[in-house]
Amino acid sequence: MSNENIVWHAHNVDKPSRAEHKQQKPCLLWFTGLSGSGKSTIAGALEQKLFAMGHHTYLLDGDNVRHGLNKDLGFSDRDRVENIRRIGEASKLFVDAGLIVLSAFISPFRADRQMVRGLLEQSEFIEVFMDTPLDECERRDPKGLYKKARSGEIRNFTGIDSVYERPEDAEISVNTATHTVDECVEQIVGYLKQHQIITKG
Ligand code: ADP
Repeated sequence: MSNENIVWHAHNVDKPSRAEHKQQKPCLLWFTGLSGSGKSTIAGALEQKLFAMGHHTYLLDGDNVRHGLNKDLGFSDRDRVENIRRIGEASKLFVDAGLIVLSAFISPFRADRQMVRGLLEQSEFIEVFMDTPLDECERRDPKGLYKKARSGEIRNFTGIDSVYERPEDAEISVNTATHTVDECVEQIVGYLKQHQIITKG
């Protein structure tokens, strides 16, 4: 399909005015890491903290998106790429709306994360690597998925028989095996303050 006759319309209420209104710098916190590494737990606790501080946030969480926006997608390589692309584009719209967006997806491939980074302005994309060792994630196994992957009931499971490409220069690395949930949240809040994404509190 050709897009040549579709022109981007710049509206008067724009991202800077929405950001000023909300007293925050909109951005995308992209949580990546193995299943069970703590993405949902930390993103949820961080959102709660930011909300309590009076910030405007939106959390996009892996499985939830597959119930709606991406329910037509499966787990083939092509569908996985499309899954991340749509999440990236949806996140970008929420950033444009002036929000601090938290997205929690395993997103094991560097190229896919890079693609999302490329959709946003340079300082807007903040990669948050949940650097939790595989053996700790497997010990937790909150959804019983590692057990199923080890027994061969699930195939192509990240960390077992599908690769996880560690970020090489994530803006934030968090180790949930050595730090409590509160400490991890404080680490990220510290980063957001240091980079003047938030100035309250
Ligand atoms: P993911 O979203 O990466 O699959 P979850 O957040 O669903 O991971 O699961 C992480 C599990 O680890 C949860 O059961 C959580 O309670 C537990 N956990 C224990 N300590 C921590 C910690 N310091 N940070 C995050 N999660 C932790």
